[in-house]
Amino acid sequence: MARLVLKFGGTSVGDIDRIRNVARHVKREADAGHDVAVVVSAMAGKTNELVGWCRQASPIHDAREYDAVVASGEQVTAGLLAITLQAMGVNARSWQGWQVPIRTDGSHGAARIQDIDAAEIVRRFEERQVAVVAGFQGLAPDNRIATLGRGGSDTSAVAMAAAIGADRCDIYTDVDGVYTTDPRIEPKARRMARISFEEMLEMASLGAKVLQVRSVELAMVHKVRTFVRSSFEDPDAPGMGDFDNPPGTLICDEDEIVEQQVVTGIAYSKDEAQISLRRVEDRPGVAAAIFGPLADAGVNVDMIVQNISESGDATDMTFTVPAGDLDKATAILEKAKSQMRYDALQSESGLTKVSVIGIGMRSHTGVAATAFKALAARGINIKAITTSEIKISILIDGDFTELAVRTLHGVYGLDKA
Ligand code: ADP
Ligand code: ASP
Ligand code: MG
Repeated sequence: MARLVLKFGGTSVGDIDRIRNVARHVKREADAGHDVAVVVSAMAGKTNELVGWCRQASPIHDAREYDAVVASGEQVTAGLLAITLQAMGVNARSWQGWQVPIRTDGSHGAARIQDIDAAEIVRRFEERQVAVVAGFQGLAPDNRIATLGRGGSDTSAVAMAAAIGADRCDIYTDVDGVYTTDPRIEPKARRMARISFEEMLEMASLGAKVLQVRSVELAMVHKVRTFVRSSFEDPDAPGMGDFDNPPGTLICDEDEIVEQQVVTGIAYSKDEAQISLRRVEDRPGVAAAIFGPLADAGVNVDMIVQNISESGDATDMTFTVPAGDLDKATAILEKAKSQMRYDALQSESGLTKVSVIGIGMRSHTGVAATAFKALAARGINIKAITTSEIKISILIDGDFTELAVRTLHGVYGLDKA
């Protein structure tokens, strides 16, 4: 028999009926004789509510106490699922992060898992006990609860799969797989049978929130066979318990993909902001003077464009930050103005970064030109561009998000027939 990790996201455990449905998926695998560890998220909306309460209590708050509050959502779901499983006759026990323990580093609010001691959970597999583990949380070196950053239950699941040597990690969510773009904004998006780790990593880091970036990294490094699949289907429908070929999208090595497209998918990330520093002194060390303090403050700087101005002694520096960090970034730059000597700071929020992703871009030319032409034909202005070997990212006005995603999806032939 095999060993499985099953992860259920917020919508999948959104109310007691849904938890009951989730329990049927778990029971199906346990009845088949597999060792089963389940990782759960907080009920849909719960984490946002908890984050909101922290902000209401005080806009600036201690990250340890934030973690104490927001980790509670997963604790509730783990207990409720264990109760539901027990009522169905399944031997189940809930585990909070510290009880396993799942050890993390000390970056409260955005901690990384360092080690999972799953010996006790594995021992209980021999007693046919199902482990129901609270996702998103672990134990930091200061002996306090730490959370893994939004969407972190995916990472808990993949890390748990690596720790117990699972044959498969199934990420159950509210869509039935990974699509060529977010099916919520492009109904013509197609579900992929497989996607490579590298492309999934790009999709996730460029905004496709179906998997947390870190979970894909871990799956790639530890070679965890990871499927994205739907929790809403009838748990006992034919094929649902198929061990080798479960329904959904397999995240796998590039060489496991037979038909490779040039462009695999389109991702987008809303709520970007752009900052331009006009006429910054053009001398060595200027970029370090700008981006050093931002990095120290934990501001994630993304697309960076530097223009040489006509005179040659000054340069314009433009870059993006998450809109939520704009005020913080502006304050830092204004404070450090004397060291950088720029003429003016301009900023704009409400922007979106749309990205075209595909491993095939390595060996094909003209992919970027196609995107620029298609966006121009729709009257969508491009504010900044960055590229890498397997992606092109384009910054646009947020009002054009849906139009841009659909346009790019169509122009690369990704629309379903
Ligand atoms: P969960 O609560 O299960 O973790 P999330 O809301 O975090 O679920 O992620 C699932 C959502 O990701 C889907 O509802 C979908 O709208 C969104 N999504 C964005 N891009 C994609 C994509 N390329 N394929 C599938 N889903 C996507
Ligand atoms: N509940 C957490 C969040 O909403 C973690 C997760 O769902 O993955 O971010
Ligand atoms: Mg998620």
